[in-house]
Amino acid sequence: MQFSNQQVAQVFRDIADSMEVLGENRFKFQAYARAAETIDELPTSLYDYLAAGTLDDIAGVGPAISAKITELLTTGELDFRERLRVQVPDGVLQIVRVPGVGPKTALRLYRELGIADIAALEDAARNGRIRGLKGLGAKLESRVLQGLAAHAEAPNRFLLGEMLPLARELVSAFAAAAPALSEAAYAGSLRRAAPTIGNINLVAASAEPQQVLNAFAALPHIASVQAMAERQVEARLHNGKHCTLHVAAPEAWGTSLAWLTASPAHRASLLELAAERGLALQNTGLYRDDTLLPTPSEDALYTALGLPMIPPELREGWGEIAAAQAGTLPQLVELRDIRADMHTHTAWSDGRGSVAELAEAALARGYEYYVITDHSFYMGMVNGLDAARLKQQRAEIDAVNADMARRGINFKLLQGSEVDMLPDGSLALADDVLATLDWVVASLHVSLRQERTAVTQRVLNALHNPHVDCIGHLTGRRLLRRQGADLDLDAVFAAAAETGTVLEVDGGYDRLDIDAELVHRAIGMGIRLAIDSDAHRTVDLPNIEYGVLTARRGWASKRDVVNCWPWDEIKPR
Ligand SMILES: [Zn+2]
Ligand SMILES: [Zn+2]
Repeated sequence: MQFSNQQVAQVFRDIADSMEVLGENRFKFQAYARAAETIDELPTSLYDYLAAGTLDDIAGVGPAISAKITELLTTGELDFRERLRVQVPDGVLQIVRVPGVGPKTALRLYRELGIADIAALEDAARNGRIRGLKGLGAKLESRVLQGLAAHAEAPNRFLLGEMLPLARELVSAFAAAAPALSEAAYAGSLRRAAPTIGNINLVAASAEPQQVLNAFAALPHIASVQAMAERQVEARLHNGKHCTLHVAAPEAWGTSLAWLTASPAHRASLLELAAERGLALQNTGLYRDDTLLPTPSEDALYTALGLPMIPPELREGWGEIAAAQAGTLPQLVELRDIRADMHTHTAWSDGRGSVAELAEAALARGYEYYVITDHSFYMGMVNGLDAARLKQQRAEIDAVNADMARRGINFKLLQGSEVDMLPDGSLALADDVLATLDWVVASLHVSLRQERTAVTQRVLNALHNPHVDCIGHLTGRRLLRRQGADLDLDAVFAAAAETGTVLEVDGGYDRLDIDAELVHRAIGMGIRLAIDSDAHRTVDLPNIEYGVLTARRGWASKRDVVNCWPWDEIKPR
């Protein structure tokens, strides 16, 4: 049997989780977790590394792990993994991954109640058997049930960055294939830029709904049509994702689009406003005494309800109706406001592409300045940069800047670092090294599961370091895969406000960290943001858009976002 890199990564993830359940040394199991993450991201098959004898060269893969990879790839089995499986059954690993249940709790549930799989866990929670354990109360039971619901939902959810390009492609293919179409757009939580999305909701306007539905069903993307009604079709796409199309009458387009975009809370507010005006608001249009009032645009609907147009990302029920009525809706940041990317990698650490290649790609995107923030050197990141390599990289950056100047191009390439907040609370680079850099992003990558006080203290230390400009992907969450660190966010945000440190909205679409709710909170406290791509290759640069959407969802305007400003205003010299 041939293993994919992802399957091998899963084996190491299972090892790490099993060791954590068994209470083993943190450094040991984190080495496996880190190896899993590295393997997940490798551009080529592990078999190629094996054949070339270069497994040891992979960053984060030492001789012990490379021997295990070799054993697994050559024998099809890994003895170490099998021995752990005896102590920690696979079902217990599943339980560890239920949100709200940690490794310690999973082990107790297994040892003391014999709960060895998800079904047994659900049964015990429903029947109040968990509250009998010392120190675990009824609270844990309700957390478990909530966690199970989220867990069950997870396989049917997809990342914004997967769904948005797909929805755009569907809309344009559909528009080209259906001449009777007057409008088409994606709606739902996708249009509100939620970080994860269930299915794709499309809305179209046409006087010929049947013709449009048939054209849609015939698109090459559609694997099967699951239900067809007068104005609606539900279909499964070839990639397994689901899509629903609703066809509105052209004179009701604005109402249908708004209806299908609104969160339940936002929709409830619209219904209330309509009722106050003696109007009936429905999916199919806005009515007064059974007469359809034309709403050919969303603007027309919002006007009819006495509101200015509310941007889709704000239609969550977080106070946007009151703000709209008071005329205090923010002027949201836009992609075109972005002047720079301030968190990016090159082949100097774990990215691909040279400094010059990334600079050209940044220039092509119209950026005025661009910060290269390769990883700092520490134990787990063998290709990170230390003081000496930073100096070499600076020479390369200077050369690119000189070349740009010769070509008469007004563009500034800057040197930063994504410096690690180490488990002991220090940073991976000394202050005198940090002082030589233009922009310092401090991030958590390792020991994310430290207990709250310790992991919070690491972030507070970074915030209080005068050389740290920005905190990268604050919580360290990986959407649909792992929760972020257990930070005391009150303390972190207070310190960010006090020290003037920027918080990043990381546009990597499996991160989107900080999320929209934290963006909203940051803005309320006057904390400045940076929206970055965290690109590791030139093709990642457009991911910055997901950061912009997340910031918009959190009510950010361009004055809240430092990389909408000229460089000289961020760092006056
Ligand atoms: Zn990072
Ligand atoms: Zn990064």
